[in-house]
Amino acid sequence: MTRLILNATHLLTLNPQRDEHPAGHIVVDDGQITAVGPGPAPARDGDRVIDAAGCLATPGLVNTHHHLYQWATRGRAADSTLFGWLTELYPVWARLDEDLVRAVTVAGLAWLAKTGCTTTTDHHYLFPRHGGDVLGATVAAAAEVGLRFQPTRGSMDLGQSNGGLPPDDVVEDLDAILAATQDAIDRFHDPAPGSMLRIGVAPCSPFSVTRDLLTESAQLARAQGVRLHTHLAETADEDEYCAEHFGSTPTEYLDSLGWLGPDVWLAHAVHLNDQAIGRIAATGTGVAHCPYSNARLGAGICRTRALLDAGVPVGLGVDGSASSEASSLIGEVGNAALFARATLGPEAMTVREAVELGTLGGARVLGREAEIGSLEPGKQADIALWRLDTLPHAGIADPVAALVLGPPPPLELLLVRGRPVVEHGRVVTVDEHQAAAAARRASQALA
Ligand code: ZN
Repeated sequence: MTRLILNATHLLTLNPQRDEHPAGHIVVDDGQITAVGPGPAPARDGDRVIDAAGCLATPGLVNTHHHLYQWATRGRAADSTLFGWLTELYPVWARLDEDLVRAVTVAGLAWLAKTGCTTTTDHHYLFPRHGGDVLGATVAAAAEVGLRFQPTRGSMDLGQSNGGLPPDDVVEDLDAILAATQDAIDRFHDPAPGSMLRIGVAPCSPFSVTRDLLTESAQLARAQGVRLHTHLAETADEDEYCAEHFGSTPTEYLDSLGWLGPDVWLAHAVHLNDQAIGRIAATGTGVAHCPYSNARLGAGICRTRALLDAGVPVGLGVDGSASSEASSLIGEVGNAALFARATLGPEAMTVREAVELGTLGGARVLGREAEIGSLEPGKQADIALWRLDTLPHAGIADPVAALVLGPPPPLELLLVRGRPVVEHGRVVTVDEHQAAAAARRASQALA
């Protein structure tokens, strides 16, 4: 592979010293970063050199929570709470199949790439009986778009007739779920360093899965050495549900089932008391903070400052596109800073801390901080080059403030493992117009 040299106007490395270089270089060789430093790098014959004047280089962003299939049902239940929104959407999602999922996942991933994302999770928990291989469809879509992918085999087994929220026809049987989860790990999971594809195990939420499914999913994941993920403490309704059904808070319930630990990350974690934050911190459990979705559904605001002060790994997530029509990961970096400040004042989160949540924080949440999340020699060449010399950003004094507090800038270049996915503001791995047209047809088919 050709050696690539990126010279940028500003480098935010997020290395252990948190070095920044006003004018600096990154050298990429065979998909890895081999050098980072101030000034331009000396070029050799055959190197490809990109002189990106006017650009800020950051690590690629890491998305720690998503439901990509929801790209097909954006703009519905636009003014509902979580439980009302779910109740309206479950019957629509019951008609998903592998072709629809593939089409909308390509579109969702292409858009994520345009917002700076180089690694994303996907929490897929809808497996209609005649829907085909929907998980395989998401894996194929990620390979097509070229993002590093960490999907989870999600699940629901607690239908309405047994006291759950989802209708019975969208839940699966416990044994079938466990068999399909094992199959997903066997087919797709690559534990190698720098892996482009890892599988997690993700029962959906306390109000849509049984105690047995949570327990047995944790046993399966730990036997296979893969990570565990679920939704937790998203809304006040969930608090009430857990008090009524389990006589405990959502966090106490998960804790009682062995579901806190360094191999677990939790989406939302909005409604946490000090005791819950203490347990999450003590167990090394990670949190995926999804500010836009929490605001869109009126769920509340995650206590990010308290979580960070307690030492909890915190990453950012756009959440499913049906509760996050923007689905912009760089947008979530700005939202994280603004939401923290709106609740606790201007010192609650610096602009640099916000970028760290979206990069290194997400890498920690996924257990991958040795591979991704910063610009350091030896790490994967997952790099975002943001153009800051256009109308809305030119002249903003601090380039990191421009990235976080300004509108999302266009990407000059997005590299995943050294491979360009976005160039000059356009996705280059798939055709954006075709992806949009296919996604529109999929949404219309479901409607
Ligand atoms: Zn979610």
